[in-house]
Formats: sequence, C-alpha cells, structure tokens
Amino acid sequence: MQRRIFARGWLVFLILAGLWSGCAPKRLAPLVPGEEPHVQDDHFRVPTLLNVGLVEGRASLLVDVNGPCLVLDAHSRQELHRLGQQGGQVAFSRVGESVAWSHGSQRGKQAAVVLQPVDPDYRLTNDDQDYRGDFLIIPSPKTDGLTLVNQVDMESYLKGVVPWEIGRHGKDELAALAAQAVAARTYTVSHLGRRKSLGFDVFASVMDQVYKGSRHEDELCNQAIAETHSLVLKSNGHLVEAYYSACCGGTSSRVEKVWPRKASPYLVDHPDSPGSGEKAFCSESKYFHWVETWSGDRLEEILQKTLPAYVDHMIQGERPAWARPMFSPSGSGADPKHPGKLHDLEILAYTPSGRIAHLMISTAAGTYHVRGDRVRWVMAPASGKPTILRSARFELEKVRRDGRLTQISARGGGYGHGIGLCQTGALEMARQGYSAAEILVHYYPGSVLQRLESQ
Ligand SMILES: [Zn+2]
Repeated sequence: MQRRIFARGWLVFLILAGLWSGCAPKRLAPLVPGEEPHVQDDHFRVPTLLNVGLVEGRASLLVDVNGPCLVLDAHSRQELHRLGQQGGQVAFSRVGESVAWSHGSQRGKQAAVVLQPVDPDYRLTNDDQDYRGDFLIIPSPKTDGLTLVNQVDMESYLKGVVPWEIGRHGKDELAALAAQAVAARTYTVSHLGRRKSLGFDVFASVMDQVYKGSRHEDELCNQAIAETHSLVLKSNGHLVEAYYSACCGGTSSRVEKVWPRKASPYLVDHPDSPGSGEKAFCSESKYFHWVETWSGDRLEEILQKTLPAYVDHMIQGERPAWARPMFSPSGSGADPKHPGKLHDLEILAYTPSGRIAHLMISTAAGTYHVRGDRVRWVMAPASGKPTILRSARFELEKVRRDGRLTQISARGGGYGHGIGLCQTGALEMARQGYSAAEILVHYYPGSVLQRLESQ
C-alpha cells in the first residue's frame, strides 16, 4: 500500500513526460527515482498513546459512551464501576483537588479518573464529538476546573486531524494528503512533552493542530494516513519541526526572520515553484493576492488594543532579544499601553521572502517597532474576519487628507505564516503528479523519512 502512494507520482510523471515531451514541467528529484523512498532503519521510539487536551478548566463535564465501559482509578488502574451493554452518561465535577464522578446511583471521588470502552470500536462522546481511545479526567493544574484528555494512538489521532488541517479532497490530491499526514505526525512527535505542565501532550486546537475525533473522518485522508503509517521526517539526525500553513504566497519563509527562533536548515526562503521564475504551485489559491483596507479612524481604534498586546507578547521569555526595541516613548511618562492618536506607519524592512521584518507605527505615545509574523495580530482586519491579517507578506498604501491618514490598504499574498509546507501548493503538486515524498522534500529540503516505533 505504502509503495503505491509514493510511486504513483513518478508513474504519472513518466506518462506526462511521454505525452508532453519538451514541455513537461521541470521535475524535483524524488528521494529514490522510480522506487519507494528511502526510509532510515534506525527506528524512533515514541509512547504508544498520545494525550490530547480536549477541554481545560471546565467546572463540570458530561461524557456519553455507546457501549460497555470501565470507570478506572487513573493511578491504580483499579475498576471503580462498569457501564453495561447500553452504555450511558458519566458526569464529572471538581471537588477540591479531586475529580468527583457519577453514573446513576454510582459515584466516587478520585485524584484522576479514566473512562475506558471495553471494546475499541465503542466511542466516547463529549461536546457533540466522538473519540476513539480512552478519556482521562484530571483536576486542571492551572485552574479550579477539570481537564479532559483523550488518550489515543497516533494513527487514530491523525484521522481526526488531517481532514481539518488540509480539507477534504479528491483522489488526484492523495499525495498531498499523504504529505500532510507525515507533516502532522512529525509535528506531533516533535512537540511531545511541550504541554506537560498542563497534563497532556498537545492541544486539540490551532494552538497545536485542530483535532475533532472520529465523527467526521474522511476516507481518503484515512487512506493517506494508512499508506504513510508511522513515517516521520528527520533532518541532520533530529525530527523536523514540520510547520505548515495554507498558502505561502509564492515563497516560503526562513523561520528566524518571522519568529523569534533559531535558524533551521530546512525552514528556509524557498520559491514554491518547480524552478526559479516559474509559476508558483499555489498561484491559483484565492489567497494568493488579497487586499485589506482600514479607514484611519478604524485602524487607530484597532491599534489601541493590538499595539499594547504586541508589547506584552514580545516582552516574554526569549522574545525581547529578537524584538528589541519594541517601543520608543515620545517623551517622559509615555505609556506603551495607551498608544493614542495614530500619526503614521511605515515598513522599514522586508525579509528576503517579501514578508514584513520591521513595521514602524508612530502614535501620540511614541514609536512601536513591530517585527515579523506578529504584524498580522497588530494589523487586525477592520471587519474582525479573519481575526488576524492573512499574512505578513504585504505592501502598504496610505491616503492622507489635510495631513491626516484617512485610508490605509495592505496589498498582500498568502495565508498563514508561510513556514514549511504550503498546503495549496502541495495540493497542486499532487494534481501535477508529484509524489508525497517529492512534495515533502520540496517543502522540507534535505529531510529524510524515518519510521516510528511505539514503546
Ligand atoms: Zn505556496
């Protein structure tokens, strides 16, 4: 099965090359021409079950199950109660540092509780979504509510992620779905442990990857996940940080230019095309070009919130070293939390991929220096939809009347941060016959595939 999805692109290429000899698009080198891509032998070990944080800080929870299910003490694994053939509903609430549970007249109080369907074919349901695997219910470490964690194997988890991250597509786009499955799997493994203080591995939201359980799985996405089973990407002996976004606008971005992060050999400025000067794979995307317009008054109103939020964000952790100076006061007593009247804004520097490196915004309080991808949060669209600007790849046009800014337009391209895989570009590559391996090596140059092994 796996061989077919990787080899298909090469076969289609040979057919296309035969039909269109002399005008076939320039090819990217496959990992191993005409063969299944090379997969490194030294397996990478990961835990069998992933902990996905579904809900945090909720005072009470209701969980339904459609068949027999065990209620277990999470620490001793002792059986506390058993739901019969009809399943039922279990209610949870937080009492002090414990989790109180009840099903009919049965009730108890534990430090943490697991709900485990007797047969893996049964599903647990919360907030109108069904989930494979078990539920772990713990007191939220940072609030006085409950945290609901779905304990699920990696491949089942991906079935609830891939259709939400890249959408539902046709058979001719299967290679892009496979590339997305490898990227999502790699992202997940490389982020294990980063949310440990919250009691789980990954959020089920855009904080990590959108995950909506099993109710809306997609047959082709499931096929793409199965055909890339356990494959992840590695570069120089380390797992790739497999970031992806909707549309790069023609050039992917070097990570350290847009985020306060270290440089990476594979997250680099890279034209999203078969060769320099050729049409970008994502050029047909509806987000390839966009315009956003604000009146001077509306932008001034938005900046009263977004500029202080930008300064708050950038003073945390390691960010100041990357973003300093964030604010230069206009005089003594000027407060970055109260920008006041908007005087001007000007792009002082671009990154090599055409994204904003430094946007200067002058207000009554002083001058704000907005850097990198965070400019999307600062220049929030006037309508509130989307909530942040589509990309940091834009030019500004300003209209003044009597010295005052009356209209500001951003003419831009792309959707998302533009780092790593471009989803609309990957879909077009698949339609043009590129294999999943070719798509992955295009967006993460120099990476190789490796198989995970559960422990
Ligand atoms: Zn692109």
